[in-house]
Amino acid sequence: MVAQSAGMSRSPDVAVIGGGIIGCSAAAILAERGATVVLFEATAIGAGASGRNLGAIQHPFDPILAPLYHASLEHYRRLAVTDEAFAIPDQPVGVLMLNRDADASRRQVELLSAVADLDVEFMGADAVAAAEPSLVPGFAACRLATGYPIPPASATAAFSRLAAQRGAELRVGAAAELWIEDGVARGVTIAGGTHHAAGAVLIAAGPWSPPLVDPAGTWRPITRTWGVTMQLELGDAAPHHVIEEDEVDAVNRPLVAAARAAEGEPEADPPTIFTVASAAGISTLGSAFLPHEPDPARIARLLIERGSRYLPALGSAPVRDVRVCARPQSADSRPFIGPVPGTDGLFVCAGHGPWGISTGPGSATLVADAILSGAAVPGELAADRGI
Ligand SMILES: Cc1cc2nc3c(=O)[nH]c(=O)nc-3n(C[C@H](O)[C@H](O)[C@H](O)COP(=O)(O)OP(=O)(O)OC[C@H]3O[C@@H](n4cnc5c(N)ncnc54)[C@H](O)[C@@H]3O)c2cc1C
Repeated sequence: MVAQSAGMSRSPDVAVIGGGIIGCSAAAILAERGATVVLFEATAIGAGASGRNLGAIQHPFDPILAPLYHASLEHYRRLAVTDEAFAIPDQPVGVLMLNRDADASRRQVELLSAVADLDVEFMGADAVAAAEPSLVPGFAACRLATGYPIPPASATAAFSRLAAQRGAELRVGAAAELWIEDGVARGVTIAGGTHHAAGAVLIAAGPWSPPLVDPAGTWRPITRTWGVTMQLELGDAAPHHVIEEDEVDAVNRPLVAAARAAEGEPEADPPTIFTVASAAGISTLGSAFLPHEPDPARIARLLIERGSRYLPALGSAPVRDVRVCARPQSADSRPFIGPVPGTDGLFVCAGHGPWGISTGPGSATLVADAILSGAAVPGELAADRGI
């Protein structure tokens, strides 16, 4: 348990800033281990990317992130047992990375075969057409034996319910800032200047984290790459697999994709990458990797127009929603987890880029261990790594 200073007997052990997948799962894990937790969320639970993502839980390509994914999957399986409003498929549905060029697909298979414990296979155009008849014929694919589609906001919502059940207090509509004195995190400050004391502060505010961690300083290792997702009713035309245009740079190196979008393409015609995942009767279509917040209506038109070249049913499917959100992107595509050097009692867990739903609860476990027992975080993920 986090030690509390004299005179703080009624303050929480941990104040969490941010009600996305990281903040909510961390609150649930901390509360399960006996901590008194108060979570401060500025807008709504899942207001950021955690409520607006594609909804695909996938094995990452980076081996450093793989343990976080496996731990997250275990969390989700347990959550599905205890929360009847949350469901995850028992088996992965598979991810198809589509390519018109069969040789390029074969090369992709070779490349991704290097990822430990991820089964990868080549599928020729006939096999893809048989597996996914609603796709335009002629695409080969690199098939990944991963991919658990869930309704995009459902994981975060379920963890927020679990946190509340375990006694965490969720203060929604309360933007918070770090309260720091003499190099020690004392708690948080909310609107009007009210202080809330805490034994430790965890900043889990996704792309908004750096200025909260280091208000006056230079720690800015997380940028925003903006995306748009659409919710559609595809009916029988909904693909069974998670489908992606084979653009591995976009998924694996989002900063490269964002830089390309910034430099190479006219503002009126930003690049998009076709992805679709279906869960509970709704298909989520994405996305883009953009350096500036886009006009969602403009991107939505492009997503439909370009996505229809893969999945013609998109052109006539009823649209339920269009959402814009930002990925918290670090330069090496790995999150920053653990104690923040130079400020006692301050912890961060942010920077999950395009993998936060897939790896978030695993990251939250690491940061909870660091807060409650001082456990070390692997160096490649540590908040104090210099990048
Ligand atoms: C288009 C798109 C599709 C994606 N698809 C997938 C996918 O299929 N699979 C996958 O694994 N990942 C996906 N991701 C990535 C994933 O969504 C993110 O990595 C993850 O949601 C980040 O979670 P987070 O909790 O760190 O941040 P966020 O979800 O951004 O949450 C941060 C929260 O902090 C709150 N906040 C900010 N400032 C304050 C403050 N001062 N006080 C209080 N609260 C504050 C915000 O309101 C927000 O709710 C996708 C991302 C995008 C953009």
